[in-house]
Amino acid sequence: MAERYKNLIDGEMVETTATMEVLNPANEQVMGLVPSCGESELDRAVAAARKAFKTWSKTPVDDRRAVINKLADAIEQNFEELYRLLTAEQGKPHAQAQMEIGAASAIMRAQASLNLDETINEDSDERLSRTRRVPVGVVAGIVPWNFPVLMAVQKIAPALLSGCTIVLKPSPFTPVTTLRIAELWKDIAPAGTVNIITGEDSLGPLMTAHPDIDKITFTGSTATGKKIMEGASKDLKRITLELGGNDASIVLPDADVAKVAEQLFWSSFTNAGQICVAAKRIYIHEDIYDELSKAIADYARTVVVGDGAQQGTGVGPIQNKKQFDRVCELIQDARDNGYKFLVGGNVDPSGSGYYVPITILDNPPEDARIVAEEQFGPVMPLMKFSTTDEVIQRANASDYGLAGAVWTGDPAKGVEVAEQLETGTVWVNEFLHLSPFAPFGGHKKSGFGAEYGVEGLKEFTYTQVITVKKDAFA
Ligand code: NAD
Repeated sequence: MAERYKNLIDGEMVETTATMEVLNPANEQVMGLVPSCGESELDRAVAAARKAFKTWSKTPVDDRRAVINKLADAIEQNFEELYRLLTAEQGKPHAQAQMEIGAASAIMRAQASLNLDETINEDSDERLSRTRRVPVGVVAGIVPWNFPVLMAVQKIAPALLSGCTIVLKPSPFTPVTTLRIAELWKDIAPAGTVNIITGEDSLGPLMTAHPDIDKITFTGSTATGKKIMEGASKDLKRITLELGGNDASIVLPDADVAKVAEQLFWSSFTNAGQICVAAKRIYIHEDIYDELSKAIADYARTVVVGDGAQQGTGVGPIQNKKQFDRVCELIQDARDNGYKFLVGGNVDPSGSGYYVPITILDNPPEDARIVAEEQFGPVMPLMKFSTTDEVIQRANASDYGLAGAVWTGDPAKGVEVAEQLETGTVWVNEFLHLSPFAPFGGHKKSGFGAEYGVEGLKEFTYTQVITVKKDAFA
């Protein structure tokens, strides 16, 4: 019998009569049953958040910080249970699940340490004008299935620190670990400050349209992001959107082939490629293309694809059937077009589990679907380039603008290229490193606003300018 999990509403763990099944993507077995909420549960959660906002927004910021740190403690104290549960529902190998759970508590603490200081606009003989930050109110958080825990806590912590209260909806594919965390938090977060409710995708638009929600913070696909922006426009809700990406990695001719091959591999294949900031297009200078593509392919053949709960697995299954089908379709398109595969390319549809073999394509054309679209799976195209100007133009020829990387023996040259990329984040000689103190956000169709850092925290607030005329009645 699969375990039943409950929602957290107004400080209580609650069930619904309707439930949803959550599958383990490694074997397609039901690993949990979770509530399937509709309008009435959402209304209850929003009402609880609204009620709690009255006192929470007036609670001293250091007390709010202390609560967030206690929530982080609870994650840390249950580390082993949580990372095992995360692998069982999300599919990522244990080592990567450990990283996600470890990062979740660390990021909450880092976010809890931020400050929104008042600024003085004018302090003259005539007047004192200062800008303060006030919380927007009740926030709805909507998160995807690739990093379900990290994406949830990185919305919850700044919402709470700013003085907002939150109703969070995990992805219907990966709600279980988040609900287990909700249970651990029940007696730590004051009632109504954090509410976690689960439901099908159809719960999302109800949140977007809810008249008593003031802000939506969303991570997910660009297509859904557009719907959220449209839904939020009716009430002019504030929005933060972290959306898709088709990130380019550029390897200049002076890069150290032996050192970068393995790093390039993991920049694409961590979490089976299901990372918004994974390298999804790798451009290699023609002088080192043959040598480097062979080194990457050789390394790829040493990596085991399998159940993330098994020791030795490097790449787990795709998280869900819908995404599995999409990745298979992109591979089939590459086959139909006669593109060359360096590694993989044969999906075995028999057996259980959403497994896609590590697949690397050899110099497909720029208009190939696997290059032009966000694949979000363990499939990486390697492409050849001749000049720096050409590769910058190719890297920027995308509607997305999330992140990118430059690999070079000359960091100054790397920065020169980085500054010409139209993305919110660029790494030189590393990958996937996101700091909770630096704003993370997309250009173009990769997002709206930012998370992390003071910039991210500000998104949960309005500015309020208070101007006092001095000696007005003197
Ligand atoms: P998705 O957009 O399908 O779903 C994300 C969340 O939105 C889920 O909780 C879903 O239930 C909900 N949702 C679905 N339809 C909705 C609607 N009409 N209104 C409101 N909510 C709705 O995305 P996904 O498939 O879960 O995640 C993969 C995508 O997320 C990829 O494109 C990836 O690049 C992106 N992503 C971006 C970031 C980032 O930080 N920029 C991080 C992780 C993932």
